[in-house]
Amino acid sequence: MAASLGMHSILIEADQVGTKLLAVAALENVVGGWRAGPELARAMGADIDRITAAGRCTLLRGRAVRVRGCGDRAEVRLDDGLTLTAAVVIVATGVGPVDPADTGWITAADGLALPPLWRARPEQLRGPVHVLGADRPLGTWLRAHPDARRPLTVLHPASDAYKAAEVADDDRVRLVQVRSLAVKETPSDGWQVDAELADGSTRSFIAATLLGNLGSTPAAIDGLNQGPDGYCPPELQHPRVLVAGDLRSSRCQRIITAQGSGAEAALQRYYEVAGVINGR
Ligand SMILES: Cc1cc2nc3c(=O)[nH]c(=O)nc-3n(C[C@H](O)[C@H](O)[C@H](O)COP(=O)(O)OP(=O)(O)OC[C@H]3O[C@@H](n4cnc5c(N)ncnc54)[C@H](O)[C@@H]3O)c2cc1C
Repeated sequence: MAASLGMHSILIEADQVGTKLLAVAALENVVGGWRAGPELARAMGADIDRITAAGRCTLLRGRAVRVRGCGDRAEVRLDDGLTLTAAVVIVATGVGPVDPADTGWITAADGLALPPLWRARPEQLRGPVHVLGADRPLGTWLRAHPDARRPLTVLHPASDAYKAAEVADDDRVRLVQVRSLAVKETPSDGWQVDAELADGSTRSFIAATLLGNLGSTPAAIDGLNQGPDGYCPPELQHPRVLVAGDLRSSRCQRIITAQGSGAEAALQRYYEVAGVINGR
């Protein structure tokens, strides 16, 4: 949108353009007739290539760690120390997986980050496979991979039970409700999970693959103002720091609202330059 309005932008991407879409096997609700996430990710990448070649965008690989609005400018700092200054910074870092140590029912080494279930490819899973948490992507993953045969043992708290119900009849899943559990790596490159089950008894599970399915949390960077739930609503930010996509709220987390809010942020800057905003 910014390029189509004649504005130059620098796109800072830590991974690859459309990286989340690569794991979305089927799409039904995106304007343009896209039927699969990778197809849309490729189209987005081609768009960026096209406007980059036309000199209207620069793609910079890097991780943003801090944003700051100051007077009539905004700054963004990357993890390699580089600081960029612009008229506005639009932050659209989305959401990331909840870490086990942040759940309250899992004890794990500090900094343990499990690969998310929704990104897992069935052919790459080594058995036995255990999944921590029964968040919604469990049902999506099973529907997206009807031919995946390796059984999943899903250890989840009582608060996930209503979400687990939709997969209860799938014979590829064994649901185990737990009160709490402790995770540690084994010397053989696997995992030991010591669980206190719902009835108060204890049981140990040995896993070759351990995946996280614990929900998501806003990928806020320093300098953003967060609400009580951790999300970053646009109205809490400095006027030079605009927020788009999933990062704004736990509601409306869809591709179409990400596209819409990103386009709106670019338009906001465009009308400011055009002097339409504030009656100028
Ligand atoms: C399994 C699954 C299935 C889904 N299915 C659908 C569906 O069918 N229909 C639908 O509408 N939506 C679906 N969604 C939701 C949809 O993917 C999101 O709403 C959408 O991708 C949000 O876009 P976004 O740009 O806000 O964030 P993201 O797509 O998460 O993009 C954020 C980008 O920011 C980058 N980034 C993060 N932190 C930094 C940083 N510090 N510095 C630089 N770059 C950073 C990331 O690498 C990423 O490329 C699904 C999501 C999942 C996980």
